Amino acid sequence: MAEIKTLYATTLSDTSAYGQFVALGHLARRYDGSHWTKTSKKYREQDQKQVYYFSIEFLPGRLLKSNLLNLGLLDTVRAGLKELGLDFETISAAEPDPGLGNGGLGRLAACYMDSMASLGIAGNGNGIRYRYGLFKQVFMDGYQVELPDDWLRNGNVWEIRRENKSCLVRFGGNVWMQPQPDGTLKAMYENTDDVLAVPYDTGLVGYHNDVTNTLRLWSVELPPSADTTYYSQAQRDRIDDITKVLYPDDSNSEGQALRLRQEYFFSSAGVQSIIRHYGLRHQGMKELGKKIAIHINDTHPTLVIPELMRILMDEHHCTWDVAWELTKSVMSYTNHTILQEALETWPIDMFKGLLPRIYQIVAEIDRRYRLAKTPVYGEALVNRTAPLGDGQVRMAYLAVIGSHSVNGVAPLHTELLKDDVLRDLYQVYPERFNNKTNGIATRRWVQLANEPLANLLDAKIGQSWRQQPSQLKTLLAYQDDPKFLAQLTQIKTQNKQALAAYVKKTLDIDLRTDAIFDVQIKRLHAYKRQLLHVLEIIREYLAIKDHPQAQVTPRVHIFGAKAAPSYHYAKSIIKLINALADLINHDPEVGDQLKVAFIPNYGVSLGELIIPAADISEQISTASKEASGTSNMKLMANGALSLATLDGANIDIIQAAGNENEYAFGLTAKAVYGYYERGDYHAVDFYNSNPELKRVLDTLIDGTIPGITTEGREIYDSLLRYNDEFFVLADYESYTQQQQAIGADFNDQTTWQQKALANIAASGVFSADLAVARYSDDIWQVPHAQVN
Ligand SMILES: *Cc1c(COP(=O)(O)O)cnc(C)c1O
Repeated sequence: MAEIKTLYATTLSDTSAYGQFVALGHLARRYDGSHWTKTSKKYREQDQKQVYYFSIEFLPGRLLKSNLLNLGLLDTVRAGLKELGLDFETISAAEPDPGLGNGGLGRLAACYMDSMASLGIAGNGNGIRYRYGLFKQVFMDGYQVELPDDWLRNGNVWEIRRENKSCLVRFGGNVWMQPQPDGTLKAMYENTDDVLAVPYDTGLVGYHNDVTNTLRLWSVELPPSADTTYYSQAQRDRIDDITKVLYPDDSNSEGQALRLRQEYFFSSAGVQSIIRHYGLRHQGMKELGKKIAIHINDTHPTLVIPELMRILMDEHHCTWDVAWELTKSVMSYTNHTILQEALETWPIDMFKGLLPRIYQIVAEIDRRYRLAKTPVYGEALVNRTAPLGDGQVRMAYLAVIGSHSVNGVAPLHTELLKDDVLRDLYQVYPERFNNKTNGIATRRWVQLANEPLANLLDAKIGQSWRQQPSQLKTLLAYQDDPKFLAQLTQIKTQNKQALAAYVKKTLDIDLRTDAIFDVQIKRLHAYKRQLLHVLEIIREYLAIKDHPQAQVTPRVHIFGAKAAPSYHYAKSIIKLINALADLINHDPEVGDQLKVAFIPNYGVSLGELIIPAADISEQISTASKEASGTSNMKLMANGALSLATLDGANIDIIQAAGNENEYAFGLTAKAVYGYYERGDYHAVDFYNSNPELKRVLDTLIDGTIPGITTEGREIYDSLLRYNDEFFVLADYESYTQQQQAIGADFNDQTTWQQKALANIAASGVFSADLAVARYSDDIWQVPHAQVN
């Protein structure tokens, strides 16, 4: 396109990579801007049912390359830049990666937004525009140090501030119901702390379909009354704080009033703007359930339920019963965890003080629930499941009671919800429970992240897989095509070279690209068991030291993981991995047979670099603890073989690709629950009965690994004195056996790549497009483009 070229030539020469990125961003905006306007107009004219996906986190990754791909401009732009002597990848890398999420939850929300746009669903994201994203991780002396992520410092080319769509959100004060002359009650407020919620909209570009949807992120500002009322600096800061930082806590709820303020802030602003938009086009609220679906991604946005009740009753004069039926028909909820400590609750006193009107409504939901259900299910069950109990507001229970659908994110997880975490509520509402296995946006994780592979797939099976992920299974026809298998190895090597160059630059470690790239990338959490992986590395190290002359398959262990700043144990494991890496990487006797690279600041962009280079996908959580996982799917789609426990979606991956193409091991969820029931897990027995394991564990405290006097002891004690909460030692033997099988199998690259091929071919099942189509059909009841 000549136009693009002229534009480059005038605006792109002589500027920084960042300046060039901004110029290209504006160019992309020119193209998708008209789609955006047309899409909104079309939804309005056709009065299409809208889906609003509420999530306290979105982790979209960089948008330039993705938008250009989806607009069909990527190749043209890249070629045009090349003619001008500019490198697209360098420019693209200058874009800040918005870290508005911690991990899987936020990334899932982003994948689903991408799929909604690509399936032509009227999908809207609703979240918080954090001034600072998740901290930037650096290592100092092997310890994690957190630096602020000032991602908006240079502005944001993708967003549009829409001040005219701002809403007031009310906190605190007193509220009472005043009888009106017509017999109704009116909510009266005094002394409230009001804040202004200002939306910033980002266009989400669909793949080759001229659709651009909206991600709306809310930012807090002083209310208009600030023009005439005095606000002290402390008051201003208190308001600013609401959208200042993302809570860097991955799964524990931290019980901070500020977090509750954040949750109500974006829930209230989102629902207000939905109802305002709906009200412009419809008479009364009757049609609400036919025109609007609100999805609650984990419990953080659960207050959309009482907030919608409030608006329907207080502002649109619906009766309780009418409002309640409408609310349930609109709302649906996804649960993401079975970890008990991650189920959000708020102390009633705090909740009541901060949100008095919302509290009244929750109390009324609670009262009516008890009244209706006690005669049927008995007082004990109702006490256990009511929204209010033990002095707490129980968000997950409120979400189930106020929705028409509640889903888990993998078959095992949904079964565990029904049998364990939400067992009592399942008795009351069995028809509401369903499973929707997570999915990933193949566009980002294969088409963008692994262009060499994507191009090879095009050449072999045509391009239809780019829109119809199930077409990937036609690859199976090439399982015995040696040339194709060799090409897979070649591409993997090329991707390893790119990663190795990055590791050299950032960590000064030399990686052999013919080594096994054994990858574990995810949040650092005890249940994810990075520690089990560490024990294997120690085992491999000792084996090399014992037999320096023996032939071993060279290996590179790659980690990417942030720990919540307050999660002491996780940070000790980071220190352990870095200390071990230091020891191994500098031992001349080990040489290039074994390397450990802990790449700092894992996030979406680093994932895009690491995943295409992986041979092994470590998915080794304690069975029953990982709800689904999604990095397992990304790695599979890039031809990595899973080394996996039977947990979350690993089970479904193994089934889809075939057990012979993965390395499964370890306790089943049932076996873990068996230990809980009998109370007969004794970690120390494994230590005493397995001399190799004993030797490996002893290196934590005997000085073998320098620099971990405190951390080594702490971790050693967690396993042996405190009985190994996550069954690391129980799974050690089967895990290390599979690792040894991997070491042997990797040498036969033909067989290895046959397995990689089987994984790529089966990965279409885990496309977010298919997952979103299932949400659309079963839960939201909205039309979408055909996908299979
Ligand atoms: C996919 C993804 C995750 C989720 O990884 P799991 O292994 O499923 O926990 C976390 N962080 C980022 C940046 C991701 O892209």
